[in-house]
Amino acid sequence: MLRGVLEELGVAGHERISAIEPREVASDDRRHTTISPTTARPLATVQLDDRASLDREVAAAVEAFRAWREVPAPVRGQAVRAVGDALRRHKEALGALISLEVGKIRPEGLGEVQETIDIADFAVGLSRQLYGMTMPSERPRHRIIEQWHPLGPVGVITAFNFPNAVWGWNAMLAAVCGDSVVWKPSLMAPLTALATNEICRRTLTDLGHPDIFRLVIGADAVVGDSLVGDSRLPLISATGSCQMGRLVGQRVAARLGRCLLELGGNNAIIVEPDADLDLAIPAIVFGAIGTAGQRCTTTRRLLVHESIADSVVERLARAYASASIGDPMAQGTLVGPLINQRSVDAFLAAIAAAQSQGGTIIVGGKRAPGDGFFVQPTIVAAPRSNELPIAGEETFAPILYVFTYRDLDAAIALNNGVAQGLSSALFSGSVGASERFLGPAGSDCGLAYVNLGTSGAEIGGAFGGEKDTGGGRESGSDAWKHYMRRQTSTISHAAQIMHAQGIRFG
Ligand code: NAD
Repeated sequence: MLRGVLEELGVAGHERISAIEPREVASDDRRHTTISPTTARPLATVQLDDRASLDREVAAAVEAFRAWREVPAPVRGQAVRAVGDALRRHKEALGALISLEVGKIRPEGLGEVQETIDIADFAVGLSRQLYGMTMPSERPRHRIIEQWHPLGPVGVITAFNFPNAVWGWNAMLAAVCGDSVVWKPSLMAPLTALATNEICRRTLTDLGHPDIFRLVIGADAVVGDSLVGDSRLPLISATGSCQMGRLVGQRVAARLGRCLLELGGNNAIIVEPDADLDLAIPAIVFGAIGTAGQRCTTTRRLLVHESIADSVVERLARAYASASIGDPMAQGTLVGPLINQRSVDAFLAAIAAAQSQGGTIIVGGKRAPGDGFFVQPTIVAAPRSNELPIAGEETFAPILYVFTYRDLDAAIALNNGVAQGLSSALFSGSVGASERFLGPAGSDCGLAYVNLGTSGAEIGGAFGGEKDTGGGRESGSDAWKHYMRRQTSTISHAAQIMHAQGIRFG
């Protein structure tokens, strides 16, 4: 099946793919074999970049930037429109590739490609709106304007769990802003990156703009580290774990570069006694077990009012029992595999830690049958004390920790009582509760939802989180400003030089 999908995407014979569904794993300094999360068998072997080839890719992106920055932004927008259309034509196959490579169920694989198409559409409109402001000058016959200019080639590092859309969020905005992009994807999802980049690169090349989208595939210690340290890249946009963000952030800061960090989350849903449970239960289930718990916005903690805790947990347990686990390509599957054995080990270690810390397993807690990396979606009740240190960590797996509370401020304190600050949600019928949650003393997260779950952001809003989530904002709203440099320009048509602040000189 993989070969057919790669053929449809026009990359089956790509020079970087040296074997498709090989018998043996061949991973060394020059090659890397990816493993199917569904079957645990080798998927494909790809050629790895080294420092020298990275250097060439960055040099090509620098050259491409020099020309691209002078193409008028609305014309760049038309090129991005063509990229969006190319992705539309390849949506089915790209979605299937995502399912095969990272184990997302079919609707989620397709949804991810749709997200990139949506951001391309957004970027097309944006290409006519890269607005600056004008300010009144204190001096007569002077004018002050703010202009936004292209920034330079942007380094984009992506996580395995959104192997197409996270690049899309960055690349579509960067492209209309006049930047070129050097993409370093996760080694767990190089095929999706290769196919996505190739489709978009070919489209721009046909329009006379080659080299806007460059790709490097390689080890973190070789390619990742060199990319991050390369001062030809004024912005590094990195999506991944908090641990990665700390390393990358410090390294970029050391060369006084700019960083856009989109890191781990530890997201909670608060359920008030007046919540409509017919809304809350499906939202919690989707948030907690969707993408097998491998979204940065996955619901990891449930904060439920003590008066309704038993009935909420009982309804959740029933819903979990009917969620089918299995082949992500099969119709009806709701929970696909984890990405690899390391993730299964982390899941089992978290369950063991929760139990040793006084947590009680309500459902799940074990590996699920199948050759691949399947686990059971799990609900763990915290002890009465609400002391459960493991719940402070982001285990990238479908584990939902349940805490109880007595009043809303206590729930908000629990929501905010973790290191990460990405997504949060409240279910309540009360305007007062909603305003409290969304107000200055409410959720401290970058994303806050009322009567919706923590996952599934739309591209129109700025996406990102506070605290250990890194503070970055991508996608909609004014996130485009990250990809441009601001210039405050003052123009005089006065007959003599006038100094600001009324200074007389000489
Ligand atoms: P990861 O941190 O292991 O890897 C992410 C990317 O960083 C990969 O491309 C990896 O190769 C690269 N990388 C790692 N160390 C590096 C280094 N020292 N220098 C340069 N590059 C380096 O994360 P993952 O397992 O791929 O993804 C899961 C994590 O990503 C979770 O923590 C999840 O919450 C987070 N995530 C966050 C968002 C968001 O928008 N906030 C979105 C998706 C995923």
